[in-house]
Amino acid sequence: MKAAVIESVGKAVVLEVPDPSPGPREVVVEVAACGLCGTDLHILQGEFAPTLPIVPGHEFAGEVVGVGTAVTELTVGDRVAVDPSLYCHECRYCRTGHNNLCERWAAIGVTTAGGAAQYAVAPVANCVRLPEHIRTQDAALVEPLSCAVRGYDVLRTRLGAHVLIYGSGTMGLMMLELAKRTGAARVDVVDINAQRLSTAQLLGVSGSATNADELERPQGWDVVVDATGNAAAIQDGLDRVAKAGTFLQFGVADYATRVTIDPYRVYNQEITITGSMAVLHSFERAAELFAAGVLDPEVLISDRLPLDQYPQALDQFASGVGRKIVVVP
Ligand SMILES: [Zn+2]
Ligand SMILES: [Zn+2]
Repeated sequence: MKAAVIESVGKAVVLEVPDPSPGPREVVVEVAACGLCGTDLHILQGEFAPTLPIVPGHEFAGEVVGVGTAVTELTVGDRVAVDPSLYCHECRYCRTGHNNLCERWAAIGVTTAGGAAQYAVAPVANCVRLPEHIRTQDAALVEPLSCAVRGYDVLRTRLGAHVLIYGSGTMGLMMLELAKRTGAARVDVVDINAQRLSTAQLLGVSGSATNADELERPQGWDVVVDATGNAAAIQDGLDRVAKAGTFLQFGVADYATRVTIDPYRVYNQEITITGSMAVLHSFERAAELFAAGVLDPEVLISDRLPLDQYPQALDQFASGVGRKIVVVP
């Protein structure tokens, strides 16, 4: 089969590789589309994945074309979205319900061969069947949405919250759509790139600006979400959390990023600073929200490129042009 391969640091190619075969409780998925995200760039930079080469791609959906000997839940022809998370279920974090913090954390497309290929293998337990009205290609959005649902689980936000989101890339836009669905009184979006803000405006925002100063909210926001990973945005956001409010680190910052906090204000104004990492018991719910129409794939997916152009797709993603880019094998 044809697959994208990150061969070594900085080098992605498309190659012929052997077809995968399923283990007893696994299925083979013919990939309909696979999304690219910041994690793929980290892998390209030599982070996250313990060993290169690897077939990347952890955001994918497709049709089941092969099942393992002990699979009864799925049959050939079923269309599924795949949760890439591979937990050990044995370590202390798994045993206390924090599987996404697993000591042996692994994921399809990060530590094992992923969906940027014609075929990918997945445990049957990681597959969620798609309802009839959902296009298989569009369901590549379920995985990033499941990360946003996990972010909202961490927030435990209340009705009537005032929400400020930094970043109007794919993840910021998903947080925007969830904020509107979870009863926010207002949702404002900040992005230094005015061009990118136009998509947030199209989806519907209370306010939007290239600098939060323009939004004139001296009391701040109950919920501030960073969906950029950028130090300047994070610093600005920390300073705009209202009394009793919560700051969520949702964007992936570089390892070396540092910001300063104001411990007296954290104490005196009961500020919560928290984070959310990947997926935790949120994939099934994300698939249901997606089926219910929480996201418009025509807006969220900006580019559908052939798998052959995976290296160019990575370049385009790195340059910040477009929203969700998917490759289509
Ligand atoms: Zn991702
Ligand atoms: Zn574990």
